[in-house]
Amino acid sequence: MSEVPVAERRPADRARGRELQTLRITEIFYSLQGEARAAGAPTVFVRLTGCPLRCEYCDTAYAFHGGQRREMDDILADVAAYGVQHICVTGGEPLAQPGCATLVRRLCDAGYGVAVETSGALDIRPIDTRASRIVDLKTPGSGECRRNRWDNLDALTDDDQLKFVICDHADFDWAAAVCREHSLWDRCPVWFSPSHGQVDPSALADWILADRLPVRLQLQLHKQLWGDQPGR
Ligand code: SF4
Repeated sequence: MSEVPVAERRPADRARGRELQTLRITEIFYSLQGEARAAGAPTVFVRLTGCPLRCEYCDTAYAFHGGQRREMDDILADVAAYGVQHICVTGGEPLAQPGCATLVRRLCDAGYGVAVETSGALDIRPIDTRASRIVDLKTPGSGECRRNRWDNLDALTDDDQLKFVICDHADFDWAAAVCREHSLWDRCPVWFSPSHGQVDPSALADWILADRLPVRLQLQLHKQLWGDQPGR
């Protein structure tokens, strides 16, 4: 295979460099963390634009398109202006942008407590392990189960978290079987969350107790407080 001439390569390299130093951002806002271990903590959210998945229950479709391409330093300055210790990098699917790993590393370097919410369809290994990587395992009810990247399970640390959004009892049985097969509760905290409007939270609580699963029930705090409003 012949080499690409330098003159033709440079623009591509420049474009790649720009991809790593900028991010397309839907919104940066201050609210309470609604999910997982830091639920209830005042948090700055950095919502990256775009997602390659289309889950049936998605509540952030407004982040699929649009947004504004911004310099990394500019994003970090916006975050710092809130004076908050806990930062959540979310989407869309934040890992779909190459610069996400740089953002997370720089937030960790700056001393923030960082959580990264990801669909589980992309490789989590480039993401700094000082951050808590909150990884979805997509159930059949999501419509995107085939996108699960199973080798992510081998990259989990104690500080990471796994999440299943349960759409019906068949999803619950599937999630319980996956947890047992891979001993997921021995790797990191595992959250079962009822799909909003599809599963009664008290029914999911009963299923967890009846099967004596060592998982945690998660209710989306921000939805109870503010419904589906963007930026909350
Ligand atoms: S991965 Fe998240 S943002 Fe993407 S479609 Fe699914 S729920 Fe929506």
